[in-house]
Amino acid sequence: MTTTADTTAPAGADTSDILALAREQVLERGEGLTQEQVLQVLQLDDERLTELMQLAHDVRMRWCGPEVEVEGIISLKTGGCPEDCHFCSQSGLFASPVRSAWIDIPSLVEAAKQTAKTGATEFCIVAAVRGPDKRLMSQVAAGIEAIRNEVDIQIACSLGMLTQEQVDELAAMGVHRYNHNLETARSHFPNVVTTHTWEERWGTLRMVRDAGMEVCCGGILGMGETLEQRAEFAADLAALEPDEVPLNFLNPRPGTPFGDLDVLPASEALKSVAAFRLALPRTILRFAGGREITLGDLGAKQGILGGINAVIVGNYLTTLGRPAENDLDLLADLSMPIKALNDTL
Ligand code: SF4
Repeated sequence: MTTTADTTAPAGADTSDILALAREQVLERGEGLTQEQVLQVLQLDDERLTELMQLAHDVRMRWCGPEVEVEGIISLKTGGCPEDCHFCSQSGLFASPVRSAWIDIPSLVEAAKQTAKTGATEFCIVAAVRGPDKRLMSQVAAGIEAIRNEVDIQIACSLGMLTQEQVDELAAMGVHRYNHNLETARSHFPNVVTTHTWEERWGTLRMVRDAGMEVCCGGILGMGETLEQRAEFAADLAALEPDEVPLNFLNPRPGTPFGDLDVLPASEALKSVAAFRLALPRTILRFAGGREITLGDLGAKQGILGGINAVIVGNYLTTLGRPAENDLDLLADLSMPIKALNDTL
């Protein structure tokens, strides 16, 4: 597998073959695959996985370039969420072990400093809530101001569903990007969450986009969705045109309703990453949680050579990720530069 873009379509490409068609449509013309085409990719035999990952990598290199965006995340408020997302150990409705806790502003600033030291350009402040209340909004405002005074980094937030007033407040605070995941296909969402709707999430995303913030929206694969629904989800995301898509794989957490689901097989996870890249040729596609359990130690390398172009450094929200140095060493080994702050403004 090479790390350079292959920009030549094979002469007389067989367009009855989905990868030949994708080479022409996505790699050459930059047009993402449709829902039906994504499904064909997801249904490919495992023996075509290497070829698929190479194509996804070529598409990423051609339409995004070699830079990899590095982001750190910090949980301002953990656990005790009133919602019932069946995968989430931060829901207060399940017998999962994550207790409700807040971190203070000095700890937030310290985490931003440590994140910036890794070369990361984004620092995302996350809270386990349905949506922010006044207390959370004022904590976020104070945190952002304190970080701004000491650290040169772009700030993202993930605070659940927003009102228009809250969207405007966050935009005025200078929040660069807002994360709100659709989590899964619209048709599968009621099997995953019952306390709010997919459409409510979509509404927040539209307001965020209209206020001029970048939209970060992804989800979790391996929550019992069919391949058809996984393709539907890719098409849903493509319609939203998010700036960033974080892809998680379900890491079944004890005590949650999805605690007994099987982990996605590695080949299926990699096929899915590549298929999402072919649906979203220009987006920042980020490996978020669950890759260690699905893909093991080699997961980062396989992902970054199979369509991924952004990583989260350090700890995830409730489970340990890999230490930042491992990922940063890997990028150096692959000669992939970390995206610089001034390139992202
Ligand atoms: S995913 Fe978010 S909204 Fe859902 S239970 Fe977890 S913290 Fe709450």
